[in-house]
Amino acid sequence: MSSTVPQRTSSGRRVEGHSGRVALPGDHDWDAARRAWNLAVQQHPAAVAFPEGPEDVAAAVRHARDAGLRVAVQSTGHMAASLADLSEKLLIKTERLRGVEIRADEQLARVEAGALWEEVVTPATEHGLTALHGSSPDVGVAGYVLGGGIGWLARLYGLATNSITAIELVTADGELVRTDADHDPELFWGLRGGVANFGIVTAIELELFHLEHAYAGWLIWDWSRSRDVLERWVEWTQTTSETVTSAARILRLPPLDVVPEPLRGRDLVVVEAAYVGDEESGRRLLRPLRELRPEMDTFGVVPARALTRLHQDPEGPTQGIGNGTLVDGLPPDAVSAFVSVTGPGSGSPLVSSELRQLGGALGRPAPGGGALSHLDAAFAAYSVGVPVEAMTAAAIAGHLDLVNRTLGEWGSGRAYTNFSERRVDARSIFPPDAFERLRALKRRMDPDGLFHASQEIPTDG
Ligand SMILES: Cc1cc2nc3c(=O)[nH]c(=O)nc-3n(C[C@H](O)[C@H](O)[C@H](O)COP(=O)(O)OP(=O)(O)OC[C@H]3O[C@@H](n4cnc5c(N)ncnc54)[C@H](O)[C@@H]3O)c2cc1C
Repeated sequence: MSSTVPQRTSSGRRVEGHSGRVALPGDHDWDAARRAWNLAVQQHPAAVAFPEGPEDVAAAVRHARDAGLRVAVQSTGHMAASLADLSEKLLIKTERLRGVEIRADEQLARVEAGALWEEVVTPATEHGLTALHGSSPDVGVAGYVLGGGIGWLARLYGLATNSITAIELVTADGELVRTDADHDPELFWGLRGGVANFGIVTAIELELFHLEHAYAGWLIWDWSRSRDVLERWVEWTQTTSETVTSAARILRLPPLDVVPEPLRGRDLVVVEAAYVGDEESGRRLLRPLRELRPEMDTFGVVPARALTRLHQDPEGPTQGIGNGTLVDGLPPDAVSAFVSVTGPGSGSPLVSSELRQLGGALGRPAPGGGALSHLDAAFAAYSVGVPVEAMTAAAIAGHLDLVNRTLGEWGSGRAYTNFSERRVDARSIFPPDAFERLRALKRRMDPDGLFHASQEIPTDG
């Protein structure tokens, strides 16, 4: 009899060889077991495995293959929306694989697949080092670095995925392997961008970078200034060196206690930046933006670990519907169009409509890089709304489409994996030659399509 759901075995385990928990529909805490960080997404997998180590991951993969289930993996579920339909799939949640080892003398970290950024950055900064983390301390390292990774040092050091020096994973055969530039370099290339298409990653080795302090903060204006501020910011981005990475966004902050009083319930336009340099040159750098007389200015010298919270992203499980796109340039017409759909009078239901400055090292193919080693665009856009009921969810989804369509006129038509919370054709992420190379690798590593990834690489067609 073929069963799609794990049963209790003679050893009393639901999956032979798996020492961790395997949760099934009907368990008293099934709702908690299937929950993702993004509470706007309802996941209904066939079962959820919580491995305690790499051997458990291998046992879960072998079990799924024998039981005719596909395998999906999640560390936090920040990107849960793009996993889409999980029926007939075993979901492996890596949240118990949290080991982090900092090898300061080698400037390396070995990070297990369930670790969060804060768990890497905090110990690294004790050695005057940091990692290429993103804007949120509780995003998972694995999903973030395998999908690219644009953080506050991105224009200086490039996509975080380029900082990977080795990857340990379980293949479709249930084998544990380690890949790096010298061991199956084609697999190492494909995983850096191909995310979950070729196996379940159990640990990643990352390069660390020296950083003690940065000059960083926010400049804040009422959103009635959106056009002026965004136009000036775009001009300013053309002048900044690679030691600066910045973002500008239109924020519609809800009237909730979690938002500090002066900003609660306000509609704002904000420029955020991190500069790897001293305060005096930082002040000179900001002059053209400060000429627009921001209402609030939080810039100052901050310790490296403070950059994990510069963006003030929500921590802990949260509802959100988001999406993004890549943009080639933002001439004044594009800024006007963006403001007309996100700013005053737009009726936008989005909490945050953001533009991130790319270029610098982000724009150059990295030597020895993987399938996604740079972004061929000038800006990345990402917007998000918080649905409070079904109607708002539909309005947010419709408005995200409108923003992407509007920016599409200045866009490359390319998607950036980490900002694509919907399933997209992988051809919109990778150039044609990289896409064909990824397909060949998929045929070798996962010919039967065991692995269910957010953005799937097809074996054929
Ligand atoms: C609040 C917030 C802030 C963000 N800030 C940034 C930012 O600054 N820069 C940026 O580039 N992106 C950012 N993102 C996007 C973020 O990088 C992606 O959502 C990323 O995929 C999250 O990784 P995760 O592991 O936490 O999420 P998950 O949803 O757990 O995983 C994401 C993807 O990675 C795959 N995956 C997870 N673990 C493994 C594994 N062990 N092996 C193989 N595949 C795996 C999953 O299958 C899924 O496709 C942000 C997202 C949010 C919600």
